[in-house]
Amino acid sequence: VTDAIQKSPWTRPLNWNLHATFEGEPQIPFSLYIQLEPTRSSCPALPKFRTLPTELQLRILHFCDSPTLFQLMQVSSAMRIEAKKIFWSFPEAWYWIKGGWLLAGGLPGHAHHAIDFLDHVEQVEVDFEDMDSFWEDWEARIRRGHLEELVAPSQGVEDRTRDFWQTLQHRFPRVTNVVVSESNAQRVNESLPDDLKMIVEMCPAGISVSASFLKNAAGCTRRLERSLWRLAGRDASIVGRWEKINPMWTRQSILLPHKDFRGPVGAYQSTHYKAHRYHLQYRAQQLLLIEAIERHHFHERQEPFKCFDPECEAQFGLPGEWTLHAIDSGHDDFAVPPDEFKASFDQHKKMLQMHMKGEALGRIREAWGEKGSERRHNAEQAFLYQLDHDPLYAHGKPARACSTWFMYIRDLDATYVY
Ligand SMILES: [Zn+2]
Repeated sequence: VTDAIQKSPWTRPLNWNLHATFEGEPQIPFSLYIQLEPTRSSCPALPKFRTLPTELQLRILHFCDSPTLFQLMQVSSAMRIEAKKIFWSFPEAWYWIKGGWLLAGGLPGHAHHAIDFLDHVEQVEVDFEDMDSFWEDWEARIRRGHLEELVAPSQGVEDRTRDFWQTLQHRFPRVTNVVVSESNAQRVNESLPDDLKMIVEMCPAGISVSASFLKNAAGCTRRLERSLWRLAGRDASIVGRWEKINPMWTRQSILLPHKDFRGPVGAYQSTHYKAHRYHLQYRAQQLLLIEAIERHHFHERQEPFKCFDPECEAQFGLPGEWTLHAIDSGHDDFAVPPDEFKASFDQHKKMLQMHMKGEALGRIREAWGEKGSERRHNAEQAFLYQLDHDPLYAHGKPARACSTWFMYIRDLDATYVY
């Protein structure tokens, strides 16, 4: 996958807000997804737009991008309904959700994302990292505390899959399209994993469902491709036949807005949320460096260059060649930012390192006080009280049995060894 990297000709500057998964796929936080580009932020055409006949306004809506539609949803009551309809059914936009969250019941307490937001979402990508995670009870594993040992779920396959779909429909009442996907690459397997097939085959009627997974691109050791698959004849009760509908599927993978991080549990959960966000940005640095080098040699000029790995003979005479080579060989490890980008890279890295140090968790730990102290007792009681009483932090079990409680006391105890 190279779609996180802007290609020549470059019309926009390097995207310092780039987020990418471990495998290098781009993800976009909702707040950035609806952000107008700085050049258009004033939306000068809007007053004029309002004077047009309604029918014309409605037609124009269909040509608007997501940020513009989102603005129209806020400012114009006449357009709100139609703008909303188009905004939420944008075919390229897929809202990303962890499969594990749904498997554990889709409870607000486990979530870092806003819950009421899900009421609007029509297109969902359910991500399982790798399909083994379907077969494990992560909550039980956290309660037990041996994180390396997987715990098998007590439910059978069919019940587990049926509950999964029920939870999905309950949490996303307007869902029309679902992609069940695996985000860790299959390095060996060439075809759709059986577990993915099984989940899709049990999808309830009324939802259009497909499956997607990552594998190595043909002849490549590291470069990945994401394919999209559909079960043909599902409605016609023909025995399922799987067809690849897109060998290189790209989409806007949108990260849901975060929940209201309130109270002591919210403060603790927000440290995990932020750490995850910064990891996605940290990962994206490598992709930005590859792009900066492309721009340095080929933006409004043509300067062929050779690979940064002294042992490698590769030469790059055209835009895009370096990107493919760097991603498949990892030779960008030897690269340094070109002079004109160096200061920005240093500054960006410093900002990320500062945020990833986990100072917020340090402050919570400080406030936790000594073992046996009144301070610790009070902090723990407040945490437990919120778990038991705040609907946004409900785990469906007594506070002392919640996975978040176990994580909290182990995270704060600097001496605890998993
Ligand atoms: Zn090389």
